[in-house]
Amino acid sequence: MTKGNETGWNIENSYANLPESFFTKQEPTPVSDPTLLVLNDSVATALGLNVKELQGEKGEALFSGNDIPEGAEPIAQAYAGHQFGYFNMLGDGRAVLICEQITPSGERFDIQLKGGGRTPYSRGGDGRAGLGPMLREHIISEAMHGLRIPTTRSLAVVTTGEPIYRETEQQGAILTRVAASHLRVGTFQFASKFGTVEDLRALADYAVERHYPEGLNAPNRYLYLLQEVIKRQAALIAKWQMVGFIHGVMNTDNMTISGETIDYGPCAFMDAYDPATVFSSIDTGGRYAYGNQPQIAGWNLARFAESLLPILHDEQEESLKLAQAAVMEFPKLYEAHWLDGMRGKLGIFNEEEGDESLAKDLLGLMKENRADYTNTFRSLTIQEEIDLFEKPEFVQWKERWEERLNRQEESKDASHKLMRKSNPSVIPRNHRVEEALEAAVESNDYSVMERLLEVLKNPYQYTPEQCEYAKLPEPSARPYRTYCGT
Ligand code: AMP
Ligand code: MG
Repeated sequence: MTKGNETGWNIENSYANLPESFFTKQEPTPVSDPTLLVLNDSVATALGLNVKELQGEKGEALFSGNDIPEGAEPIAQAYAGHQFGYFNMLGDGRAVLICEQITPSGERFDIQLKGGGRTPYSRGGDGRAGLGPMLREHIISEAMHGLRIPTTRSLAVVTTGEPIYRETEQQGAILTRVAASHLRVGTFQFASKFGTVEDLRALADYAVERHYPEGLNAPNRYLYLLQEVIKRQAALIAKWQMVGFIHGVMNTDNMTISGETIDYGPCAFMDAYDPATVFSSIDTGGRYAYGNQPQIAGWNLARFAESLLPILHDEQEESLKLAQAAVMEFPKLYEAHWLDGMRGKLGIFNEEEGDESLAKDLLGLMKENRADYTNTFRSLTIQEEIDLFEKPEFVQWKERWEERLNRQEESKDASHKLMRKSNPSVIPRNHRVEEALEAAVESNDYSVMERLLEVLKNPYQYTPEQCEYAKLPEPSARPYRTYCGT
């Protein structure tokens, strides 16, 4: 165990105060030969950690799980969840929660090793993760942060020096994930299904205190929790839709109570606009397609509401009414965020009745013409001609849009600025992500990933560098496929 505290740890283990069924004490399994490949300086600094201290062997030992910080009491968390609609008991099968770090500004973050070894929840799995998928999570979560979308962060990636076996042999790796918490809809499902009402209440109290402390004084704090989670998820999913992010595996265990995006497995960004877009190889039915994400979020939140029924009200019927009313709000909240986001993308400040159809008609044209989602908005923003803009239907649409802009008080310039703020010039394009991963994994060359990450830090800038990364790949005969990486 590390002695002294040059590293900057300020540790608590509040989750371990919950009833015992919620976790198992579990140290990460040591690895033979750790190598530190990525250390995220800005995340480390925000956490109050000393970057210099972590760069060498110390970081290697900590981020591999070979050493744990003094005061940390590592655990694996129990949770359940609906996976593709089917309920399962799950839990941290390949992750160990090392501790909670209290930052210099007083915020609390979970520090979790993903790929840290087997736990009682591993079922048949090896508890390990591969280098490619962990670097992928690093890139995409950093990109999401750059896009100003709430997300877990990645503090470090190490290789373990040990191979793992999937379809092929891969290098084992561990990602240190930083999250506002790892409380999931599935954690509540676990409590509700397998615990006592007291367990469920303890969990809900913990969640309110940690994420919605204003709710401690609410007349019904559990209803407050439900309503606030619904609000945050409505805002989050609308943000995903705005940038064409497809999560790929929106199981209830992959939906947070904090409102952060979590679990970057088969996620990817849409190219040509099509609501039916699916990248994940296992999502054969298209359950988690781009266009289904809002509905699926609503479905997951209904499962959350269900899990809270025993504590929403003393009378079952009242509970049900409260839950239903809260869940019914989700589509309205989501639609409002969506329309707000689209107004921003089109440079519109005020509200008019026809705004929704203006936005939807543009999307319809994109779909018909297989136009790239990000680049269509990008080209509208910088007034660059693309093929779509030559179509007569588009010319008509553009007239409508210009008339709409003329009807608002704000100047063209203000409108243009709003569009720049709302339309990223770059997203992590699939071919760029693959190129970065291939160089890193196959050739141990991290420069390609570094350059990509640099660009993705400022996706709303329109510099020549960003423009280079906005280019589309050569058309490919095969559709892009992603894999869970488990
Ligand atoms: P995910 O698809 O990453 O959300 O994981 C779903 C469930 O499978 C979680 O309970 C994970 O902990 C578990 N899991 C995924 N990969 C592994 C693995 N390699 N070993 C053990 N458990 C795993
Ligand atoms: Mg998961």
